[in-house]
Amino acid sequence: MSIENSITALNNLPVHQIIEEFGSPIYLYNGEKIEQQYQRLTKAFSNVDVKIKYALKASNNLSILKLLLKQGAGLDAVSFEEVQLGMMAGFHPSSILFTPNSVAFDEIVKAVDAGVQINIDNISLLEQFGHKYGNSVPCCIRINPHIVAGGTSHIQTGHIDSKFGISIHQLRHVIRIVEKEKMNVNGLHMHTGSDILDASVFIRAAELLFDAAVQFKDLQFLDFGSGFKVAYKVDDVTTDIEDLATAITERFQAFCSEYGRNLQLWFEPGKFLVSESGYLLVKVNVVKQTTATVFAGVNSGQNHLIRPMFYDAYHHIINISNPTGTPRLYSVVGNICETDTFALDRKINEVREGDYLAILNAGAYGYTMSNNYNSRPRPAEVLWYKGQSHLIRRRETLDDIIRNMIPAAI
Ligand SMILES: *Cc1c(COP(=O)(O)O)cnc(C)c1O
Repeated sequence: MSIENSITALNNLPVHQIIEEFGSPIYLYNGEKIEQQYQRLTKAFSNVDVKIKYALKASNNLSILKLLLKQGAGLDAVSFEEVQLGMMAGFHPSSILFTPNSVAFDEIVKAVDAGVQINIDNISLLEQFGHKYGNSVPCCIRINPHIVAGGTSHIQTGHIDSKFGISIHQLRHVIRIVEKEKMNVNGLHMHTGSDILDASVFIRAAELLFDAAVQFKDLQFLDFGSGFKVAYKVDDVTTDIEDLATAITERFQAFCSEYGRNLQLWFEPGKFLVSESGYLLVKVNVVKQTTATVFAGVNSGQNHLIRPMFYDAYHHIINISNPTGTPRLYSVVGNICETDTFALDRKINEVREGDYLAILNAGAYGYTMSNNYNSRPRPAEVLWYKGQSHLIRRRETLDDIIRNMIPAAI
């Protein structure tokens, strides 16, 4: 979806009514948009046995999990707490993939006891897992192919410093452990963490996983991670899911016949499913003209949406109170004692004190990365679904901030 469509979708939501009812700053999610993204992905891959494991670290609200559960999704969880959240939302443990890194073996054991599919990300844990479970509990292995599928039509190899996965160059070691412990490896996984734009780039990366896969006899699935790109900026090129799916389907089917069995094809998108559904709605407290720029200071900050500061991420911002005002340049900043700049020299319809701004693409890694810095409470979350608004997380108060503090007897 383009930014223009995202703006249109927002214009169809009763934002002012929602702000009036629940206040600001507020995270607003369009539930139907999440469903559409899920359906678009599964439809594109309808000629293979595709399974979508939603990466809930993008947005962990139980109501959003339930919405995706109803669609037929599974989950990708990166902590045992995320596994527990998934089960609370009603996901069957067997539909949850547990992909942690740098965890102690105890956490893996807890997930096995819960009945979750385990994804092993280092040799040490693989040995411990094999030693304890032998072939009695299947596991998936996370491979690091040392490939970054970049935004252009080339593959940058390298990525040698990544802490994720077991290096493809250690495959022989992996196979020794698997054979010695008679392990049941039912899946191979890779997640390069980068954007997939081009089918041929993706397939060249997938070839490495196929090469590895023929050396494992018990596979049920191959998991290609995530990386479907969504638009953050006007004119951003996004993944053509349908084209990509046609190319991957063809190559995957060829691999399955070579392998001798039909495998499941797994993806674990976070951003693709929820990013565009979400908006952070904030109020302009002050408009401050300086010698260098005009600041629009809002009632939120990096404590609520850290991506612009953390990743230098671009989030489109629109003035929902003055949509036809003359566009002018603003630096949109937060109210935190940090340089928490949401946008620098951004053209926005004239901003007046008291106006409300919508920050787009706030559905993924927004609330879940928020914090209480400056002792400020986190916003509420509202889900708009089938013509109704649902408060799905209440706004925090000072009580939430002091909840776990224990006064020292001093
Ligand atoms: C974070 C993560 C994802 C989701 O990534 P997105 O960019 O949000 O789609 C998928 N798989 C794993 C293992 C992850 O850590």
